[in-house]
Amino acid sequence: MKVLVLNSGSSSLKFQLFDMENEAVIVKGDVEKIGLDGSHIVYSPMDGEKIIRQRNVANHAEAIDLVMSMLMDKKFGAIKAVADIDAIGHRAIHGGTKLIEPVLITADVIRELESVSYMAPLHNPPSILGIKACQEKLPGIPMVAVFDTQFHQTMPMISYLYALPYEYYEKYKVRRYGFHGISHGYVSQRCIELMGKPSTSRIISCHMGNGSSVAAIRDGKSWNTSMGFTPLEGMAMGTRAGQIDPSIITFIMQQEGLTSKEMDEVLSTKSGLLGISGVSSDMRDIEVAAQAGNERAALACSIFVKDAVHYIGAYAAEMGGVDAIVFTAGIGENDIAMRARICKQLAFLGLEFDPVANNCRGEEVEISAPGSRLRAFVIPTNEELVIARETVSVLRKTHYYLY
Ligand code: ADP
Repeated sequence: MKVLVLNSGSSSLKFQLFDMENEAVIVKGDVEKIGLDGSHIVYSPMDGEKIIRQRNVANHAEAIDLVMSMLMDKKFGAIKAVADIDAIGHRAIHGGTKLIEPVLITADVIRELESVSYMAPLHNPPSILGIKACQEKLPGIPMVAVFDTQFHQTMPMISYLYALPYEYYEKYKVRRYGFHGISHGYVSQRCIELMGKPSTSRIISCHMGNGSSVAAIRDGKSWNTSMGFTPLEGMAMGTRAGQIDPSIITFIMQQEGLTSKEMDEVLSTKSGLLGISGVSSDMRDIEVAAQAGNERAALACSIFVKDAVHYIGAYAAEMGGVDAIVFTAGIGENDIAMRARICKQLAFLGLEFDPVANNCRGEEVEISAPGSRLRAFVIPTNEELVIARETVSVLRKTHYYLY
């Protein structure tokens, strides 16, 4: 059974084609800069050379066309016909209170996703565009949506309720939803396996990439997490502000004469590491600038470390201790120096850090010393595999006669 996993961003479409007989990736890639100058596709077959093609891609429907033409290319294509794809799994960000479990996509599901788009105005529209583009270009292939919020549904009310008038929770469902759930769920499960499946566990998982969030996970279940009603809350991220005093928002809107949409854009696309450093949203660029003596870039790195330590400390206190820290995603998996800086501040929690083991990128490695009271792991995330597995599982339940 072949499953195509799609992750639609506002200007990108990431894809991976799986053979679910052995859960092997056949090809993966990314259409970048959709609707912008310089749009192109990166196509990386597991058994061949990476191919990059510059193409004009105006929207997500054209991006799907491009992905399919590469997948079916006579020379390097992985499939012969559209019908070779048995199912499509979509990463969905926010399904509100009704869409939580992985679900077969129907017209009703799309309507529900659209109706909760106001809760994630920057995240749901691209994901809906991706789903609609598939409906148009790949009709008849069953599609499943897997939600980033699902894993965090186990949070207790003390973690998810904001101290606002209670009626806003009742009327508008204003609460912490939490995101990166597919990733936090996957790496915490791996961590439990690496720890030898203890009967109880307190794990703090740090998903640190363009978007970053920290999650407190008790006995495999989400207890609290740093992202909130939307993915804007929590750590300072690539371009997102993270935690700030809410009064700053109305103050800046008044001072600069900004509309709420413009302010949303400032908080989501011009803040965070980019806002502080003025250099870039990309940690690699910021670290290069910091090493070259750029003080604001160095400050951005230090604030990132402080934010990670802040949430780890808070969650350790909330869970009455912590047994393991997990680092994942672009920065967590690859940034040796950043992990070292964070881990060194966790000695007070009993972490004996192993700098030699930490000298790794993108591999599953324990980076705490043998016998360390608090253990630390690098665990590469694999959101696409989780989505592919969930897609198969939903289809087995709903299309049991076919699979
Ligand atoms: P996304 O949230 O878009 O999936 P990723 O998980 O790919 O993001 O993470 C992107 C971030 O990871 C960027 O800030 C990038 O600089 C950082 N990153 C990737 N590789 C390295 C590395 N070797 N050293 C430091 N940072 C890295």
